[in-house]
Amino acid sequence: MVESCDSDLAQRIASGDRRALAQAITLVESSRSDHRATALSLLEQLTSVRREALRIGLSGAPGVGKSTFIEAFGSMLIEAGLRVAVLAVDPSSSRSGGSILGDKTRMEQLSRNPNAFIRPSPSQTRLGGVARRTHEAAVLCEAAGFDAVLIETVGVGQSETLVAEMSDLFVLLIAPGGGDELQGIKRGIMEIADIILVNKADGNLKSAAVRTCADYAQALRLLRPRQQDPEGFPKAMAVSALNEEGLKEAWSEISALDGWRRRYGFRHRRRADQARKWFENEIHRGLVEQVTADRTVRNSMAELGALVAEGKLFPANAAAKLLRQISARLAQ
Ligand code: GDP
Repeated sequence: MVESCDSDLAQRIASGDRRALAQAITLVESSRSDHRATALSLLEQLTSVRREALRIGLSGAPGVGKSTFIEAFGSMLIEAGLRVAVLAVDPSSSRSGGSILGDKTRMEQLSRNPNAFIRPSPSQTRLGGVARRTHEAAVLCEAAGFDAVLIETVGVGQSETLVAEMSDLFVLLIAPGGGDELQGIKRGIMEIADIILVNKADGNLKSAAVRTCADYAQALRLLRPRQQDPEGFPKAMAVSALNEEGLKEAWSEISALDGWRRRYGFRHRRRADQARKWFENEIHRGLVEQVTADRTVRNSMAELGALVAEGKLFPANAAAKLLRQISARLAQ
């Protein structure tokens, strides 16, 4: 019965049915073990669909204009004949349970478009859990025939790295800065960004945006050239999401970079590396889950944890002790 249900669901997804897609994403987001089993069977069935969208990671600080950009950029892609999905990885939802990227009305026009699909961030207790769900949601969007999947995150902490690990390329949105400093952007994020868009290049912010863009272009030139990039990338550009200026140019650069990477096998290689990493993550997570499902292990862990907290045991020694106990139990 379950089998026939999810093969029906798989077919509906493959035919591009957005309601079926939404239903499937709810399934992959669920923490119920029966839902998980159905979700895995669904993902397996859909591997034969073998469709690939361009997955674009998009990050930026709150207020930089991410939703304005996605609304305008997504609508432009749809006008050009593409189907666009928008997913979110929201680090705040893992802390507070309330999602700041969750509000669909942020992209009102896009959310009403039949060729768009918008899904807010799943709420989870851990960012890793959010990332895993979003990665699976991206796979489902591809199976449903979307041409572009935008994966949005707020520019804090490790969420960018997680998003980069499920995207083909990464776009960083920044606001025009006052001076020539690089706005405290961490080196790590500069290294994963393929295209930096300085937004709000309009009105009295325009000249600041152009200056900021030049600063970033210079900083990017100092980065070590990457093997997977053609000449001129990573690149900084000034855009105005509000006035819809520079968006066509941004798309043309994104397409050029992706085209080049596909031609030389870099997109494929990046996906292969990512797939291996997701596989390893699943193993690590599953092992921890399996081991801690054992009550004796859980109790030992709590006791040793208390001793560590009291300073009576060194953390690494306590861990080694627990791992020896686990090995002994496994050998039984
Ligand atoms: P998010 O928090 O990154 O999603 O940012 P929003 O898209 O909600 O935008 C935050 C504010 O910046 C809003 O008041 C937008 O109208 C404004 N904004 C966004 N893009 C632009 C732009 O290109 N130019 C100007 N001047 N304002 C913009």
